[in-house]
Amino acid sequence: MLKILVCEDETAIRRFIKINLERQGFDVIDVETGEDALEAFNEQKPDIALLDIMLPGMNGLEVAKKIRDKDSNVGIIMLTAKSQDVDKILGLENGADDYLTKPFNPTELILRIKSLARRVESKDVPDILEDDVYKLDHNTRQFFKRGQYIELTPTEFALMDLFMRNPHKAFSRDELLDIIWGKDFIGDSKIIDVNIRRIRSKLEDDPSNPEYINTVWGLGYRYR
Ligand code: CA
Repeated sequence: MLKILVCEDETAIRRFIKINLERQGFDVIDVETGEDALEAFNEQKPDIALLDIMLPGMNGLEVAKKIRDKDSNVGIIMLTAKSQDVDKILGLENGADDYLTKPFNPTELILRIKSLARRVESKDVPDILEDDVYKLDHNTRQFFKRGQYIELTPTEFALMDLFMRNPHKAFSRDELLDIIWGKDFIGDSKIIDVNIRRIRSKLEDDPSNPEYINTVWGLGYRYR
């Protein structure tokens, strides 16, 4: 059973999330502050963290960064108010996989959690993809560049998996959203660009002049 950590200071929203996730059979740990979220994370090792950004004390973005520093495999979804910019929510720094804009309905919440759960659980596929630079190992859920281990988030890992299975294929942003985030994703396609930027900063020799993860102008991205 997937374990989900929910950090939200507003009691009504926290309960709403907890009830809906438990109904789907998820194991839910709910906390009110960022400090409690970190403690619960260390003790209970959740598979996915759902973090509100606006919290008293440490904010959700700081919590996400601290969690990501400890564990590259955990899935992170941010809860945000409408006005916040996607670039800020999913910045290079904090390593979040997705975000949900308030107010959201239970269906939207469940779809996003399930989509991320698929990425988090992809380690169960016994498979190794390898080319002359990169190696992606599903058995251990590890990624290597010229033999050197590189930490990727579940979303970055899923994107590289797709790219390495389809070298030279140009993917549109919509296709990438459908495949990685799911057909029901409601949000900004900038989420793709932010993730690509993160991947390039980790994997390219010169991230500002990418050699492997290329932009296809007016469309999307292509590997090689
Ligand atoms: Ca809040």
